[in-house]
Amino acid sequence: MNRPIYLDHHATTPIDDRVWAAMLPYFREQFGNPASNSHLYGWEADAAVSLAREKMAAAIGAEPDEIVFTSGATEANNLAIKGCAEANMSRGRHIITVCTEHNAVLDPCHYLESLGFEVTYLPVDDAGLIDINDLASCLRKDTILVSIMAANNEIGVLQPIAEIGQLCHDRSVYFHTDAAQAIGKIPLHVGDQNIDLMSLTAHKIYGAKGIGALYVRRRNPRVAIAPQLHGGGHERGLRSGTLYPPQIVGMAEAMTIAIAEMSTESERLTKLRSHLWQTIQPLGGVTLNGHPTQRLAGNLNVSFNGLNGDRLLRALQSVVAVSSGSACTSAKATPSHVLKAIGRSDALARASIRFGLGRFTTIGEIDIVAAKVCEVVPELRDYDGH
Ligand SMILES: *Cc1c(COP(=O)(O)O)cnc(C)c1O
Repeated sequence: MNRPIYLDHHATTPIDDRVWAAMLPYFREQFGNPASNSHLYGWEADAAVSLAREKMAAAIGAEPDEIVFTSGATEANNLAIKGCAEANMSRGRHIITVCTEHNAVLDPCHYLESLGFEVTYLPVDDAGLIDINDLASCLRKDTILVSIMAANNEIGVLQPIAEIGQLCHDRSVYFHTDAAQAIGKIPLHVGDQNIDLMSLTAHKIYGAKGIGALYVRRRNPRVAIAPQLHGGGHERGLRSGTLYPPQIVGMAEAMTIAIAEMSTESERLTKLRSHLWQTIQPLGGVTLNGHPTQRLAGNLNVSFNGLNGDRLLRALQSVVAVSSGSACTSAKATPSHVLKAIGRSDALARASIRFGLGRFTTIGEIDIVAAKVCEVVPELRDYDGH
């Protein structure tokens, strides 16, 4: 039996052949520990990690010593938010974020509230965007950090990162952005966009799971963060633990490829997404979730009026792998906090499907998926209606 067509690229992506080829030598032949400075095995591993660090830094307009490797974006977000709060609490205890953030931002914020920090959760409009004036009016003398994601993992909406960065810079507040979904898909430059802290992960851009990085600004201004993992003093003491060269080399390759192919790929995906939406729309009773244009090229999030999302998912699952709401929260019965925040009812939020198109998605696959959706939705509506 054929495996279902994979349209869940916001949850994770397959490893690109080019990334895999770059990683391979570091699993076995060149297995050394980059921290071993007394022999060839260590030197070659260290050289590979250094080169990867340089490539990644250059790709975002940073310096190599501003990249801290982590296990992924969850850890990078925790290090940025908790680390910044801990190191700067003498300046203030107020943090601003947005109610549609990933749980890897919201949960560290909730944790800090339990320690006595105060967190403001900005609302979004019905397209999922924050209002920059809202943010400006929430900034206070004791605000130390603003954390706002670049691209949303459920509805793909792109926040105005450069404007947020400028505002935070003018008001001397650190700006962190969770760029797990944005890196390699939209232009990101820590200088141009005044980003002080930025979380990255490899597995959303055709690299391996279990590797990510936090960009930490070292100049104008130097951002102080407190480590959350203590040990051997790796990564300038900010994140102890033996580095994993295959994952790191692969992440640098994944970023390089995604950025080099960004403009052609986003044009291609936009066409495929429009085709999918135009085929589904005539069904009627379908609502697009998120901004129509200010969104990730590969993202289409749709609510189907009068349908149960889980039943729809089951009717589709032999043909297409998609998720309802966010994969990270789909184990929970509660409707997506992002869809609720843009004003969807519980019922409509539960009746939503996230189509996440990716690098290997073809027009032929989109035709198959669209045809299946157009077949099962009326059937399920009939069934539910009678
Ligand atoms: C996937 C994702 C994360 C978590 O990243 P991991 O590397 O899996 O820990 C965090 N934020 C966003 C926006 C994501 O899409």
